[in-house]
Amino acid sequence: MSGIYIHVPFCYKKCSYCDFYSVGRNRLNEDFANHVVEELKLQNININDRLVKTIYFGGGTPSQLPASDIQKIISATHGCFAIDSNPEITIEVNPDDITPSAAKEYLRLGINRISIGVQSFIDAELAFLGRRHDAQTAVNAIKTLQDAGFDNISIDLIYGLPNSTLQSWDFSLREAMKLNIQHLSCYHLTYEEGTPLTRKVKKGRVQTLDEEISEKQFQLLNQVTSANGFIHYEVSNLAKPDYFSRHNSGYWLDEEYLGLGPSAHSYNKLKRWWNPASIETWKNSIQSGFEYVESEPIDSKTRFNEMIITRLRTIWGIDYDLLAKVINSLNLHPIRSQLGKHLKGGRLIIENGKIKIPPKRYFISDSIISDLLIV
Ligand code: SF4
Repeated sequence: MSGIYIHVPFCYKKCSYCDFYSVGRNRLNEDFANHVVEELKLQNININDRLVKTIYFGGGTPSQLPASDIQKIISATHGCFAIDSNPEITIEVNPDDITPSAAKEYLRLGINRISIGVQSFIDAELAFLGRRHDAQTAVNAIKTLQDAGFDNISIDLIYGLPNSTLQSWDFSLREAMKLNIQHLSCYHLTYEEGTPLTRKVKKGRVQTLDEEISEKQFQLLNQVTSANGFIHYEVSNLAKPDYFSRHNSGYWLDEEYLGLGPSAHSYNKLKRWWNPASIETWKNSIQSGFEYVESEPIDSKTRFNEMIITRLRTIWGIDYDLLAKVINSLNLHPIRSQLGKHLKGGRLIIENGKIKIPPKRYFISDSIISDLLIV
């Protein structure tokens, strides 16, 4: 089965840490949805697996998109693909945009999963991040969605914030646990090149958090969520049983996906391709037969690296026999010895024939993974 991702590149205002491609919402008009539909009609032939099980509106801020535009895009997917009888349809929303009528509209459109960008339940942290909502608005939005009937809600939280402590992170986590949500995505704050936050760090106006505290925050995440019935199924994702993100799991389990909209990426097992990160160039690209789309073929080296990068971060891991076979066939002696080193050190384990990183070591997953890549 495959998935469809729609990148909605409009934000009411830019957050200080964000480097996703987005522009001001004043540039949003119906032209956007029309171009997405046009792109879908032209690009759909690139996906071999014709049964779509998930549709994901990400961004940017998809909750800025009028319901009529969302409807137009969902209808067009039905015209181009066979849609699973019970598809997962997710929309990322900003807490400020959630009203009872918006929640009702989403349900009417068949959206059955909401991913809400909360980031923190502490007002000072939200102001630091440049978010436009406060903690109470986030709580109200979640309750509004639940009252409307949503029972599959994910919230995003960020840890590792400058000036945060173990106690402040504990507070946000426990607030989240009180809200009867089904899914949690937790990311360490990253300092992306070119963002206002990174400029402040470079000028010495913001001090990054001590790595030791970040690591303790990560361990706390593990403790608090597991005590509340969550499964840490991917480095940054935790969910109650039966509520793993089907769309994102598709990325980690090597399923095909079509990405529509500026900067969106697509994959069909043979190649990966991505749209330009500019609305104008993306529109020109559609009109010119995808002149500005870049791509890379998936050769055996890329396939190996992608298997390591995606699967090792999950509870599914990699089939150990398969991995050993690929390592032998590609003569990857240094990687074999790195594998042995990490297995001996307990940073990798083999469970039921699958090799994986134990969740308590997820914090150092990047360094383990980088040791196992073909460079
Ligand atoms: S974090 Fe989300 S809301 Fe903020 S600028 Fe980035 S995409 Fe927009």
